[in-house]
Amino acid sequence: MKYFVWSFDDGLEEDKQIIRILRKNHMGATFNLNSALFGKRQMIGRIGNLGIKEVPLERFDERRASLLKYSIHYRIPKDEIADVYEGFEIASHTAEHVSLVGCSDAECQRQVRSDQEILGGMFHTKISGFAYPFGRYRETTKRQLEQCGIVYARTASFTKEFSLPQDLLELPLNGWHIRKDALARVREFAEAESERDLFFLMFAHGYEFDFQTKESNFEKFKRICDLVAGREDIVCCSTGEAIRAIREGKHES
Ligand SMILES: [Zn+2]
Repeated sequence: MKYFVWSFDDGLEEDKQIIRILRKNHMGATFNLNSALFGKRQMIGRIGNLGIKEVPLERFDERRASLLKYSIHYRIPKDEIADVYEGFEIASHTAEHVSLVGCSDAECQRQVRSDQEILGGMFHTKISGFAYPFGRYRETTKRQLEQCGIVYARTASFTKEFSLPQDLLELPLNGWHIRKDALARVREFAEAESERDLFFLMFAHGYEFDFQTKESNFEKFKRICDLVAGREDIVCCSTGEAIRAIREGKHES
């Protein structure tokens, strides 16, 4: 079987529109949330299709922001979170969206455990997935995550392999929505035939869909979904579901 996964970060307002499209296509997905930042409103400055600078809304001054193009970066308020994401996998992205590489062990544990506790309470489930903020981690970070009961963690590096890596705490990406090769990579995956299970991890931030550039827009998101949804040989699910299914398959053989 082939498993296609969408993984979205930061809990943004655009996730509501994303989820409408996912539901219409009967697709699962993983949303990586920061429980201490619900409802936070910022602007995100971009160069090309890359969001590079977050500015709090109250400090945003359009006249002085002329070097970058800005889009909204609004996080969904806490009282809407449980309803918006119902039925989708929720994973941790640290409580406050910090790079764990710069954290002490104690702070690292606090960032992950408090996120797990709050999100777990809201969704009545154990949070065992993780996405590294800024894609940053070290070997010691992985040990900290293990101690918190994290089973898999998404990085920001890329692979051309359509397979689960040995080390689930270093899950690479197969695609990022904003990249020029995103559709081609998905097409390649959709056409691939294999005896073994195949896995594709596609990443995006909801705000990128608002850029309305050639490579970053809602239409491209829909086109990617159309390539994989509703096919008998592809399961469109969450990261956790794909990992469990592929691992269980392995136990049987
Ligand atoms: Zn993030």
